[in-house]
Amino acid sequence: MTWYHASMYDAGRPAGSFWEDDAPPLESGVDLGPLNGDERCDVAIIGGGYTGLSAAYHLARDHHIDVRVLESGPLGWGASGRNGGFCTLPPSGLSLSGLIGRYGEDETRRFISSQVEAVELVRMLARDEAIDIRPQGDGTLHVAHTPSRFAELEEERDLLGGKFGVPVDLLSREEVAETSYDSTEQFGALVNKVAFGLHPLRFARGLAAAAARHGAKLHGHSHVGQWEKDGGEHRLVTKTGTLRARRVIVATNGFTRAPVGADLSNRLMPVLSNIVVTRPLTDDELVAQGWKTERPCSNTRRLLFYYRLLPDRRFLFGARGDLTGRPEDGAKMRTVMERRLGEVFTAWKDVPTTHYWRGFVCMNARMTPAIGHMPDDKSVFFGLCYHGDGVSAAPWTGKMLAQIIGGTRNLAEIPAPFRGIPPRMPFPSLRRWYLGAALGYYRLQDK
Ligand SMILES: Cc1cc2nc3c(=O)[nH]c(=O)nc-3n(C[C@H](O)[C@H](O)[C@H](O)COP(=O)(O)OP(=O)(O)OC[C@H]3O[C@@H](n4cnc5c(N)ncnc54)[C@H](O)[C@@H]3O)c2cc1C
Repeated sequence: MTWYHASMYDAGRPAGSFWEDDAPPLESGVDLGPLNGDERCDVAIIGGGYTGLSAAYHLARDHHIDVRVLESGPLGWGASGRNGGFCTLPPSGLSLSGLIGRYGEDETRRFISSQVEAVELVRMLARDEAIDIRPQGDGTLHVAHTPSRFAELEEERDLLGGKFGVPVDLLSREEVAETSYDSTEQFGALVNKVAFGLHPLRFARGLAAAAARHGAKLHGHSHVGQWEKDGGEHRLVTKTGTLRARRVIVATNGFTRAPVGADLSNRLMPVLSNIVVTRPLTDDELVAQGWKTERPCSNTRRLLFYYRLLPDRRFLFGARGDLTGRPEDGAKMRTVMERRLGEVFTAWKDVPTTHYWRGFVCMNARMTPAIGHMPDDKSVFFGLCYHGDGVSAAPWTGKMLAQIIGGTRNLAEIPAPFRGIPPRMPFPSLRRWYLGAALGYYRLQDK
């Protein structure tokens, strides 16, 4: 069950992103098209985003397992093809001190190291498979949006850099203005030197092509509408075919909807993230705002803004918000974001935007990502809930799932914050209410 408007799940419709206008089409032959007739495989994957495609790639390449992916829309249609392209860490709704408090220092260290490895995995996949991901920026900036929030960055520096050894730099407001940019909401920043920006749809399509080259069979436009268990076998039913498999991976993240993934969906909190992109900025406009960095930036708002200058000098500006997913509320969200963009970057207040789109990020009550199998059925695996930071965490999760299924890794070896199924949301039908309350609370905190 979900409370969002049906149009958010209409995979027959393009996302409307700038990336769709800026990426070459998927190589021919990669997408085998709608599943046809009665097919069989060893591992069936529901969802053709980074998680599903990476699991398929690693299962086929490293474990020679017969694997198929079923995706409702074109491959990469979900969040993977339409995100902001920040390849960063960590994928959690908890602060570092929150993670340490719950999981202890050692498990938090393993978690952080695994996610440094996850960012490196993206670079490796791009290199090994010749995927033109358009990497950008030698690090990302986490920017204090008020003077008082600088203290959070100092703590982040001490933990991320000091305790966990991630290369970081803390910059004062003046240093950021000198090297990167200035704005009404810039009061110093932490540079995470591991992270970078990329073109999300090129990455998704490149990963799909690589998976297909290694033998995975990928079916776009194959929405799984029904899922039955018949003896030891799963039977996934689409409009045009049936896929039988011994094992299933649910890789549907924020787009998970009952009846498929019914036992999971009540544990998930899908949240809308929205993006506007401007026309390319002129030299004068960049100078007027003092913008001179390729590093993607996000700020310390609880309802964070994230923004970056794209290679063709368009400005991408993202924010969370809207509880309905209705098209008319999307139009309102676009207006709000254009106004906020102009308030934060005053030199660009009259620059028109050319694109607006949105999609689901996925959270849960535990506030950490999830890898595992269903407690009552060890042949059903899941990898999801990256809390808005899945560009590296999702491909890494796909790789971990492939290793668990391929028998080269135990679930117990996965860092604790990732391990196991998230708890059921209490009274899942009240999720919109919880989210509304959280958004209101965060708005107050962000003032
Ligand atoms: C606007 C936006 C900006 C973001 N920005 C960033 C960012 O800058 N950095 C970052 O790290 N993360 C970002 N994220 C999050 C990141 O994109 C996701 O965490 C990541 O892409 C998740 O990958 P996935 O494969 O698990 O899920 P998805 O890419 O969402 O794929 C799930 C797929 O499952 C399919 N599906 C669902 N149900 C079925 C079914 N029944 N049958 C068949 N297929 C089904 C869907 O069509 C969908 O394509 C952003 C997300 C959004 C929406």
